[in-house]
Amino acid sequence: MLDEVLKANEEFVQNFEPEKMSHMPQKKLAIVTCMDTRLTNFLEPAMGIERGDAKIIKNAGNAVVDRDVIRSVAAAIYALGAEEVMVVGHYECGMANVNPEALGTTMKNRGVDEKALNEVDLRDWIGAIDDEEENVRVVVEKIKESSFIPDDVPIHGLIIDLYDGKLKVLVEG
Ligand code: ZN
Repeated sequence: MLDEVLKANEEFVQNFEPEKMSHMPQKKLAIVTCMDTRLTNFLEPAMGIERGDAKIIKNAGNAVVDRDVIRSVAAAIYALGAEEVMVVGHYECGMANVNPEALGTTMKNRGVDEKALNEVDLRDWIGAIDDEEENVRVVVEKIKESSFIPDDVPIHGLIIDLYDGKLKVLVEG
C-alpha cells in the first residue's frame, strides 16, 4: 500500500497548484466526527466545508472516552479561534456493533497481554456505543461539562445519513 500511496502522491504533486493557507479555521468551526471511511469526501461537502474551513477531529465512534478529544477541541478554541463546535455522528456506525468478547479474543490472539486486557472494561475502553443518536447527545454533554471548555461556545449535536447525506440536528447548542 505504501508504494501505491507514494505513486499517487507523485501524480498529485505534479498536478497540484500550490497555495498558501492559514492554519486558522476560516469558518471558526471545530467538528468532532467518526473515522468511518464512508465519511471521507462526504461529510465535508454535505456540510459545505472546504479545505481550510474547519478543524476536524476524528476517532472511532466520534466518542469522548479520555481527555484527547477535549484537548483537541480546547486547542481549536483557544489556540485556533474556533467559536462553535459540532459533534457529528452517523447511522450504522461500526462502534455500535462491537462485541467486547470477540474483540478481547482477537486482541489476545494478536499478542495483547491478557493482564492488560483484564485491567480495562473493553467496552468502555474501545468506546463501544448502543445507539448512534444517544451517543451524539452524550458526547455533546461531555464536551459541555468539561472544565476546559468555555460556556460561550455553542456545542451542537448532529447525525448524518450515509446514503442521502441528510443531516439531522439532535442538539442545538
Ligand atoms: Zn462511525
